[in-house]
This record gives sequence, structure tokens and C-alpha cells, in this order.
Amino acid sequence: MSVKKLDKKALNSWVESLVAGQKVFGVQAKGERFAFAELTDASALRLDYDVTMLPPKKYFLPQREDLLTFKRSGGHESVIECDPFVLLGVHPYDFVAIRQMDAIFEKDNDDIHYKARRNAATIVVCDVQNASENVFAGCMNGAVVEDGYDVLITGIGKDYLLDAGTEKGEALLHGVGAPDARAEDMAERSKVWEANKAALKKHELKCAPADLPKLLGSSEEHPVWAEKAEGCFSCGSCNLVCPTCYCFDVQDEIDWNMDSGRRYRCWDGCMLTNFATVTGNHNFRPKVEDRYRHRYYRKGKYIPEKIGEISCVGCGRCITACVAKIANPVEIYNRLLEGK
Ligand code: SF4
Ligand code: SF4
Repeated sequence: MSVKKLDKKALNSWVESLVAGQKVFGVQAKGERFAFAELTDASALRLDYDVTMLPPKKYFLPQREDLLTFKRSGGHESVIECDPFVLLGVHPYDFVAIRQMDAIFEKDNDDIHYKARRNAATIVVCDVQNASENVFAGCMNGAVVEDGYDVLITGIGKDYLLDAGTEKGEALLHGVGAPDARAEDMAERSKVWEANKAALKKHELKCAPADLPKLLGSSEEHPVWAEKAEGCFSCGSCNLVCPTCYCFDVQDEIDWNMDSGRRYRCWDGCMLTNFATVTGNHNFRPKVEDRYRHRYYRKGKYIPEKIGEISCVGCGRCITACVAKIANPVEIYNRLLEGK
């Protein structure tokens, strides 16, 4: 696999060629914040962004997607819509979250809808150039990634290194008329990685992420759950902005003709009041405190028991999104470490 060194002009030409040849989703400014959206003008790409409002999970698990269509008279057909696309400028912590979701969605039953979108994607990761106000990816092994990406872009001084990590990535760089990176360029990249591991720590977790399952295992009765839950509005914002939250609801919808319809799924969130309501109107997590605690157990204990990784990559979005200012995972975990 090759690593190319491009100056800014050559990088722009490369992005222009991508946009001209295929569907590209890249990070763009939305007022003072940033979002992934379809990129039609290469100059709108912002690789210097701090964090996007929503993570790129929306391209693999859309807010709403049809799963199948059916007829009342009988028969159904799966709906799988996924043209090939390039996802441009994914930060390492969001890429770690995508890989976790890959593991989740192939764990028990293969999710063909997720898998089809994932296979259709070519992911270009970009090392962080500006740390967001609440990021703590440096504490959660999410500040850098060294493999798995199709292409990795790293800014070194005025130039950029483009590292093809897969055959797909190699194909994306095909035709880039740029020199190969030299040993000293790779050394510069290592310096960027080390700097980012330190810089992406706006909140400092006082233990190793691997210690969290054990810590939570003995913290069910800690007063912090009730204390924080008192301010919670059950709005679900912390779920919606989280790159590792993947819960969804499935509903059937009948057309006006009362003959055809569709089954769709849409995002759901464990902080919402009725998330755990089942048939017979029984809600097995009716108290805010239980839902609040559950979310941290999910991230720090249940998912790690399933895939072996803490399901928080330290993006900091939940901290920013929570109007009650009670959703900082680092604050919670550090409180648990202090004891009661
Ligand atoms: S729990 Fe918060 S900080 Fe962790 S990945 Fe989710 S949104 Fe990001
Ligand atoms: S964003 Fe804050 S207020 Fe809203 S559900 Fe999450 S913790 Fe509660």
C-alpha cells in the first residue's frame, strides 16, 4: 500500500476529481458548527473542523430507513438502497465507533441493511487538526487509528500525507501524481499522532478504559445516578449525537390504499421515557435514574462484555448536547472512582 505526499493544491485537485466521479459525503460548515453532507463543491470541504454535530453513523444506520415493503394480499420484498459512496474526513474516534458498530451488527444476526451500506462505503479518515471543547478521545484510545481505514489523511506542516490502507483506498488514490512519502514524512506523522493523543484530552479520565467494566460492576448503588438523574429531561439528545448508540425502533406503516405498506426502522434512545415499554404497556425502566444508569452501563460494561471494547470513544458530543450539563462520562466515571 502506498503513502503519497500532497501539497494543498494537489489535495484540492484530488478532492475535485473525487466529487466529479462519484457520490461523496464530506464535512462542511453549518454556521459556526460542522456537519457531514453531500459534497458537490470540493472547496466546501473542511478538514480543519473540530467535531461534527452528528457522527457519520447516519450513513450506515440512517435516521429512518425502509427495511421491506409488503402487500396485505401477501408477499414482501426487502428494500436495500446503497449506491457506492465516499465518506471524506472521518475523525479517528468516529472511525473507531464505526468499527465497533461493524462488530455489533455482525455479532448475533448479520444486519444485511447495515452491511450493504458499509460495503458500499469507502472511508477516508482524517487526523484531527483542531480539538473540540469537550473531546476526550485521548483517554479512550480514540485519538488516532493506525489501520482499518481505506485512506488516512494527515496534515504535516503545509502538506498532507494520504495513506492507502486497503485495495479500495489504493483505487481512490490511483492517478494521484504525487511523490511517495519519505521516512522523515512518516516521522512527522508519528509526531502528529503523539501530539493528538495528548491534545484530545479536554477531560481526564483517572483510570484506564479497561478498568471501567469492573468499576461499574460494583457501582450499581452509587448515589451519583440519582443525583444526576434529578436534572435529566429524558430528551435523548445524548443518545442521538453518540457515534456508538445504535438502538432503533421498528414500525409498520400502511398506505392509504390499505393494501400495501412498508416496515421501517428509525433511531431510538434508551434515555427516552418509553424506550423500554413493551406489550401491555409495561415499562421495565420507568424511572429516570434507571435509564440514566443504564446508559453508562451499556457503554462501560454491557457492550465491552460483547465486543471487548469500551463503547465510548470520547468524542464529547453528549457533553455538549446535554442542556442539563449532566452527561459528561468522565465526570461520572471519576466520581465512581472516588467511591460514595
Ligand atoms: S458517550 Fe458521549 S463521549 Fe462517549 S462516544 Fe457517546 S457521545 Fe461520544
Ligand atoms: S441529553 Fe442530558 S437531559 Fe437529555 S436525556 Fe441525556 S442526560 Fe438527560
